[in-house]
Amino acid sequence: MDEQRLIFVDCDGVLADFVGGVRRVWHRSDLVPEQYDLAEQLGLTLEEFWGTIDRLGPAFWSQLEAYPWAVSLWGAAQNAGEAYILTQPSLSPACAAGKTEWIARELGTRKYLLAPHKAACARPGALLIDDNEANCREWEARGGTAWLFPQPWNGSALQAWDVINGLVKLSLKGELEPLVA
Ligand SMILES: [Mg+2]
Repeated sequence: MDEQRLIFVDCDGVLADFVGGVRRVWHRSDLVPEQYDLAEQLGLTLEEFWGTIDRLGPAFWSQLEAYPWAVSLWGAAQNAGEAYILTQPSLSPACAAGKTEWIARELGTRKYLLAPHKAACARPGALLIDDNEANCREWEARGGTAWLFPQPWNGSALQAWDVINGLVKLSLKGELEPLVA
């Protein structure tokens, strides 16, 4: 039997609405990040931005809203291979606590990896689904396949449902292909 395909699904910006959490903390419902520039848009240094989030403890992370497609996407990933949530914790230990609580509640799974260095999991045939272009590039540099998850801040013209369709196709055909609409 063929080896199971490995699929790694990022959490923030793919399954969990991190930006929504930031909007609530700073009371900025108008905030629409155009790049990876949330702190800059709020007029904060990165230290101020992450310091505020870290002081909120696990609750900031555990109370993030799941995107409407989160359960479908996670289900499609599991059907298409051996799937893991691959998420980078912040510098605060509270982040890991909040994230694991979130994953258990929203997706009812322990198939996750908390990894400051996602690319360590990259290898040929392993798929990463991530909203961060730098993570995708680093993954591909190590021989993996990356699908950039569409969000306003990365300029992808695709929709969340295109990613789910891509996973359904993968489960049917078994071949890793570039993500297209
Ligand atoms: Mg992300």
